[in-house]
Amino acid sequence: MEKVRQYESKRIEICRNCGGTGHVTPKVEGNFLLRRLQCPERLVPCDVCDGSGRVEKTINIAITVKSFQ
Ligand SMILES: [Zn+2]
Repeated sequence: MEKVRQYESKRIEICRNCGGTGHVTPKVEGNFLLRRLQCPERLVPCDVCDGSGRVEKTINIAITVKSFQ
């Protein structure tokens, strides 16, 4: 006999990748002077939350109970 219990919960959280702003500073290779020339203050939309600043987190928990043999 085996029993499986499943729990699912969803919650909205602030995106950790961008800190809730929805935008991040792009990572550019090269030295500091070159970076300044290419993009001084440009921001790109966050990959994780698509610029919304929030993410939906789904938590799935499955507990299986069976006889010990
Ligand atoms: Zn984000």
